[in-house]
Amino acid sequence: MAARILVIEDNAESLEVMTCLLEAFGHTTFTACDGEQGLKVVSLQRPDLIICDLQLPGMSGFAVCRQLKNDPLLSSIPLVAVTAQAMVGDRERVLEAGFNGYISKPIAPRGFVEQVESYIGHDKDGAHG
Ligand code: MN
Repeated sequence: MAARILVIEDNAESLEVMTCLLEAFGHTTFTACDGEQGLKVVSLQRPDLIICDLQLPGMSGFAVCRQLKNDPLLSSIPLVAVTAQAMVGDRERVLEAGFNGYISKPIAPRGFVEQVESYIGHDKDGAHG
């Protein structure tokens, strides 16, 4: 099922890789380079899913997550973190912060879209991620 997906990512190359892959599988993408812009796009477009980098200029991905999850109108939109940090405990920290899932960078083209699609419609299912 084609979805409307917002990607919040300040790294142009990663942004390009993710949007190209998602669009190749029929999804519509919106993009934002920082958290403030991302939150505006969420309000305007109400995407089916949000992919958010953790390390963004200004507002961090964690701050974006807090704002979205504290907003009753937006909290049900699945929110997936992407980050290059590969530290032990990161994944737990991300899920505890309220993200619905976690994908590590660099993005592996094989399986990325499938992984993203698995979060759509499963936002209340803790088994994913
Ligand atoms: Mn970044």
